[in-house]
Amino acid sequence: MTFKSKTMRPDLFQSPDYYLLDELLSDEHKMVRDAARAWVKKEVSPIIEDFAQRAEFPKQIVKGLGEIGGFGPYIPVEYGGAGLDQISYGLIMQEIERGDSGVRSTSSVQSSLVMYPIWKYGNEEQRMKYLPKLATGEFIGCFGLTEPDFGSNPGGMVTNFKDMGDHYLLNGAKMWISNAPFADIAVVWAKNEEGRIHGLIVERGMEGFSTPETHNKWSLRASATGELIFDNVKVPKENLLPNKSGLGAPLGCLDSARYGIAWGAIGAAMDCYDTALRYSKERIQFDKPIGATQLQQKKLAEMITEITKAQLLTWRLGVLRNEGKATTAQISMAKRNNVDMALTIARDARQMLGGMGITGEYSIMRHMMNLESVVTYEGTHDIHLLITGMDVTGFPAFK
Ligand SMILES: Cc1cc2nc3c(=O)[nH]c(=O)nc-3n(C[C@H](O)[C@H](O)[C@H](O)COP(=O)(O)OP(=O)(O)OC[C@H]3O[C@@H](n4cnc5c(N)ncnc54)[C@H](O)[C@@H]3O)c2cc1C
Repeated sequence: MTFKSKTMRPDLFQSPDYYLLDELLSDEHKMVRDAARAWVKKEVSPIIEDFAQRAEFPKQIVKGLGEIGGFGPYIPVEYGGAGLDQISYGLIMQEIERGDSGVRSTSSVQSSLVMYPIWKYGNEEQRMKYLPKLATGEFIGCFGLTEPDFGSNPGGMVTNFKDMGDHYLLNGAKMWISNAPFADIAVVWAKNEEGRIHGLIVERGMEGFSTPETHNKWSLRASATGELIFDNVKVPKENLLPNKSGLGAPLGCLDSARYGIAWGAIGAAMDCYDTALRYSKERIQFDKPIGATQLQQKKLAEMITEITKAQLLTWRLGVLRNEGKATTAQISMAKRNNVDMALTIARDARQMLGGMGITGEYSIMRHMMNLESVVTYEGTHDIHLLITGMDVTGFPAFK
């Protein structure tokens, strides 16, 4: 069923490009970006506010997400992916999150946390079995790393599996898992009897595997979140990802997802800026547009400056990723900076709309609440500060 928004205004978004960054993009980049932008305007903007208000994931957009390259943009075409470069991947994430961070979360999880590990750490049989179906959205996946007692410190995880001869026996629980309530498969990180972390593909329907939904979120309301419970789940041996183990395996997936988030956050920030700019020209107080006042101009000037800096940061990071040179610490810096930038812009933009800013008629409050999750997941803001701190000093301050 398709819902028409009863509240939100038409999507009049115009993308800011203050430093003529389009000149750095290839024709393919612009084509991919424009297709994603048009799809978001047509399929996401009109319905997303209603779904967020009702705390429901809009399942009808899954097929379209696959068609615009939202599932596995950089996965090779022989596995059903779009075979695009890292800048196109980033631009798709930017456009999707311009619509909603929850929709981008579904895309990020499927692409970087499910398809990426199967592509990089799986064998050919696993790639052929899962990747084409994940690329079209026929299968939805989720990624189980975080546990109730191990969030920022995932290496301490207690979820474990035992070798039973002809299968593995999986026990434990994961928490805060995006897509969990309706995922067809889960890439789950668990320790073997020697305490080494491995990835296992767990399929819905396996006995002892359940995915209860997490309710009462004020953030990412249009994205479903849940737990993964493993109670003596028999996992076939062929479902173990054979080509990488240790904490570096899930962290490698996070590099790819965090890179996408760095771009995505720019999308949310651009939408808030564009909305506030338009409103500032139309809203009259004291007989003049609020955009003609110095205090509101200061906010807008700072917003466009920070967006431009973030655009340059991610573009350069994309070039480094294409060349295989981007480090974990460089990706971490961009995720932290851009999400913080977007959150600050969302808060300022919301104030610029006065009372209207708290309603669902505009997208800003939804972006603002969504970004409270984005600043927490895939490494909190503070943990990313520690990653940069460790990178420049050589001292890990985590412990
Ligand atoms: C909506 C949503 C979706 C999510 N989706 C997924 C998913 O799909 N898959 C998945 O595996 N996980 C997912 N997560 C989990 C997310 O990655 C964790 O919430 C995050 O890593 C933080 O863990 P925590 O919540 O346990 O916080 P904690 O680790 O308990 O941290 C609490 C606070 O302490 C700070 N802190 C922790 N350690 C230190 C330290 N050494 N020094 C200084 N400060 C410190 C943190 O910065 C934070 O401010 C999701 C979370 C949310 C909210």
